Amino acid sequence: MHPSDLISRREFVAGTASLLAAGAALGAEPQGESHEKSPLAIHGGEKAVKQSFGSRARWGEPERKQLDAMLQQSSLFYWQGPQTKLLIERFQAICPLKYVQTCSSGTAALHIAVAAAGIGPGDEVITSPVTDIGTVIGVLFQQAVPVFADLGEGTYNLDVKDVERRITPKTKAIIAVHLTGNPCDLDALKALADRHKLVLIEDCAQAWGAKSRGRPIGTVGHIACFSLQDSKHITCGDGGVVASNDERFGPLLQKFGDKGGDRRKWGGHTVFATNYRMSEPQAAVAAAQLTRLEAIAEKRSKLGNLLTEKIRDIKGIIPHEVHPEDRAVYWFYMFRMRPEAFRCNRSQFVKALLAEGASVTGGYIGVPLYGEPVFQNHAFFAGRWPVKEMGLTDMDFTKHKCPEAEAILKTGIRVPIYENMTDDYILEVAAAIRKVATYYAV
Ligand SMILES: *Cc1c(COP(=O)(O)O)cnc(C)c1O
Repeated sequence: MHPSDLISRREFVAGTASLLAAGAALGAEPQGESHEKSPLAIHGGEKAVKQSFGSRARWGEPERKQLDAMLQQSSLFYWQGPQTKLLIERFQAICPLKYVQTCSSGTAALHIAVAAAGIGPGDEVITSPVTDIGTVIGVLFQQAVPVFADLGEGTYNLDVKDVERRITPKTKAIIAVHLTGNPCDLDALKALADRHKLVLIEDCAQAWGAKSRGRPIGTVGHIACFSLQDSKHITCGDGGVVASNDERFGPLLQKFGDKGGDRRKWGGHTVFATNYRMSEPQAAVAAAQLTRLEAIAEKRSKLGNLLTEKIRDIKGIIPHEVHPEDRAVYWFYMFRMRPEAFRCNRSQFVKALLAEGASVTGGYIGVPLYGEPVFQNHAFFAGRWPVKEMGLTDMDFTKHKCPEAEAILKTGIRVPIYENMTDDYILEVAAAIRKVATYYAV
C-alpha cells in the first residue's frame, strides 16, 4: 500500500472546506476520489481509531464514605433513614420537586407514577415504542393499555403530531421517554396534555442531568421518573426515584411505593399497591453518586455534541438531533444511515466501523415494544389479557404500526458515549464514520 493512498485522521477532521481549497490550489485529485482511495481497515487499511477509551472508575471515596456512615446506623429501613433523606435532598437540588419517593427501580418509579395518576382498567397511555419495556410494565399492571406513537426521524422521541392523532376519549396520560437523555419536546407535549386534560409523566431513566430549554429534566411534566439501574448515568445497582410538584399526585407517591399505606400512621390503606421500597444501602450509594452527576452530564453532553458537529455534513448520515437550547446527556449516541445513500447495508457498515476500531452497534432494542411476543400474543397475565376479554379495549398489537420507529431500529447505529472518553477519541470515531461512509457512498 502506497502512503499517499492514506488519508490521515487530521485531514478528515480538518473538514471538507479546507481540503477542497487545498485540492483546488494544488490541482490535486477531487476530494471524493482521494477518500475512496483510503483503504478501509476491513480491507487491510490503517485503522481510523487508534486509541481505546479505557476503563471508567464509577465509584470510590464518596461512596465508601457514605456506606461507612450507613454502617453506623441501627436501622437500614428507608422511612426517615438518613441516607434516604440525603438522597432526597441531593435529588431536589438537581430536580426541585416537592414530593420525592425513592424506590427499587425505574420500572417501579413508572408504576408508582401511573398508579398515582389514577390510571386504571381500560385507560389508554400514549408512549414511545422504542424504550426499555419498564416504561409500560406499570401501565399493563394497572390493567391500562399502552398506545404507541411514532417518533421523530432524528430525535428518536415522541412525534407530538402523532401523539395527538392517537388521543381518544380513553386516553389518560402520556409517558414522554427522553430516549438516550435527549429531551422530548416538552413544551408541545405539556400544551397537548393540558388541552386534553392528560397527565404528563416523564421517563427520565436515561436522562439524568438533561435540561429542556434550561429547565432540569423532570420538572415540566406532572410526574418525573428516574432509574438508578447499573447501566444509567448514576447508579446504586438497582433503584429509582419518582417525584412530583402536583398536589393531586405527589402525596400518593409514598403510598404507591410502599404497599398502599401511609408511613406517618398505622394503616391508612386507602389504595392497593405493592412493595417498591429502596433500602438505606442503595440510598447511601445513590446519594454519593449524585455528587458525580454534573461532571458526568456535562462531559457526555460535550462529547455527543462534538460527534454531531463532526459528522453532520456526511452525505447519507442523519446525526442525533438535539434542540440547540437543550442539554442532551447521551446515554448513548445514535446516528442513522439513509439506506439509499450507500452501497452497503447496515450490518456491513457496522462491521467496517468495528474494523476501524470504533466500538459501535447496529440498532437498539430488536423490535419496537409492540413487536415483542408478549404484546403480539396479548399474553400479559397467564397468557391472557383481562381488559381485552372484558371488552374494555379493542387494542390489537398485531396491527399496531409506527413506521418511523421501525425504520429507526433498522437504520440506527449506536455509538457508546462515556464520561471518561476524550475529545480525541470522539474525533477518531467521527473520522472512521466519514471514512466508511465515503467508501460506501453511492
Ligand atoms: C432503564 C429504563 C427503564 C427501567 O428502569 P429499571 O431501573 O431498569 O427498572 C425505564 N425506562 C427507560 C427509558 C430506561 O432506560
